[in-house]
Amino acid sequence: MELDYKIVKKAEKDIRLILFGDIGMDLKALKNLKTVLDDLTMVPGTKLIIDFKNVKFISSNGISMIIRAFKRIEQSNGIFEIYNMSSAIFSTFELLGLTEMVTIKYESSEKSEEIYNETLENDQAKKKCPYCMKIIESRAIRCPYCYKVI
Ligand SMILES: [Zn+2]
Repeated sequence: MELDYKIVKKAEKDIRLILFGDIGMDLKALKNLKTVLDDLTMVPGTKLIIDFKNVKFISSNGISMIIRAFKRIEQSNGIFEIYNMSSAIFSTFELLGLTEMVTIKYESSEKSEEIYNETLENDQAKKKCPYCMKIIESRAIRCPYCYKVI
């Protein structure tokens, strides 16, 4: 699935970046992600949460990009956290020693559901799949997560 993202700003320096899809080898998608991360890590003292709930795969290029964002935040005395990482991605981070560096947290699905709904209200290009409740393109006729026809 193509990489997509939503930005939820609770305040100027309190930001959640919700990623959707795989962070793979697609250079265009990676370049877009880099631009987004550079933008979100620009203001000193920013708290940035990257929500991985809807990410199943991350390439080594993707990991480098996440670490780069972490370093930028750390250097500016901000807070950097990753939420809701899959166990497979967690294992990769653990293997690379990154779990000792980066704070990784988990939250209840109700909580993340609530935050996704907030983002939906402000975005006409997205809708919620009535079967799996994931956020998808409003023009989609088949859900990319559960493959049901809507
Ligand atoms: Zn679905």
